[in-house]
Amino acid sequence: MPAAVCLQNVHKVYNNVSVVDDLSLRIEPGEIFGLLGPNGAGKSTTIRMVTTLTKPTQGDIVVAGYDVLRQPFGVKKQIGVVLQQTSVDLDLTVWENMEFHARMHHIPNPRRQQEINRWLEYVELTERRNDLVKTLSGGMKRRLQIARALLHQPQILFLDEPTVGLDPQTRRRLWEIIKGLNQQGMTILLTTHYMEEVEYLCDRIGIMDSGKLIELGTLEELRQRRGAGLVMKQESERWDYKFFPTLEDARLYLEHQPDKTGMMVRPSNLEDIFVELTGRNLD
Ligand code: ADP
Repeated sequence: MPAAVCLQNVHKVYNNVSVVDDLSLRIEPGEIFGLLGPNGAGKSTTIRMVTTLTKPTQGDIVVAGYDVLRQPFGVKKQIGVVLQQTSVDLDLTVWENMEFHARMHHIPNPRRQQEINRWLEYVELTERRNDLVKTLSGGMKRRLQIARALLHQPQILFLDEPTVGLDPQTRRRLWEIIKGLNQQGMTILLTTHYMEEVEYLCDRIGIMDSGKLIELGTLEELRQRRGAGLVMKQESERWDYKFFPTLEDARLYLEHQPDKTGMMVRPSNLEDIFVELTGRNLD
């Protein structure tokens, strides 16, 4: 089956600085793929290249069978994009935002009205359809952005930090929406700083640092590779982490320590692996 998104040896250089450095990545149809990395790693630039908003300096990117440089309009028809900054018009109503976007995509009536109703219902904004967007909460605005991105029936949805700044309940509601879309067959590529989001949603994970893809696989593959067991040791103000192939290995190690003060064993999680790989916490 052709890939949903395929990047081959992609580079992006800004002012002689390489911000995406020889990135090759294949995202399969039907996947939820999570792209992680510290600030400045090159995630947004990657999304911007894949969604035709900026051109790669070098390399090939094919999305839903269309080349981003030669067939950008083909790509645009197949993708929905929700970027970090709120792009909905605050002085229009919910319905007007949807109508405007659907007209931009030349969706004829009656399909236009059907699609608007369908997606407003899906994100539970039907009752707010006549309200000005500036009166909506942050979570509602994000839901509206997602509904709008789906109007032209894209195959692939790109979400750049979809739940940033939202409270935990609202975030969970968005996760259900994203999971539901994926169950309907949508391929999803998201960037996030929230490890639980990736653990809950993503089939596979890519970790970027300084423009390079430094890790790729399922959470279980990452844990197998880096160590599924962890011994933590408190050293005055900070914790030291030591990875072991299995939890059992970590337990055995602890058992053999003459002084176990300030030490504990637990299974490793994505955040442990992320910090181990990138050498710093997310900020
Ligand atoms: P991330 O999304 O992982 O935080 P970005 O892709 O936004 O990373 O940024 C990667 C690097 O590229 C950063 O150092 C950023 O300053 C730089 N950068 C991004 N966009 C531009 C631009 N339009 N012009 C110059 N530098 C840019």
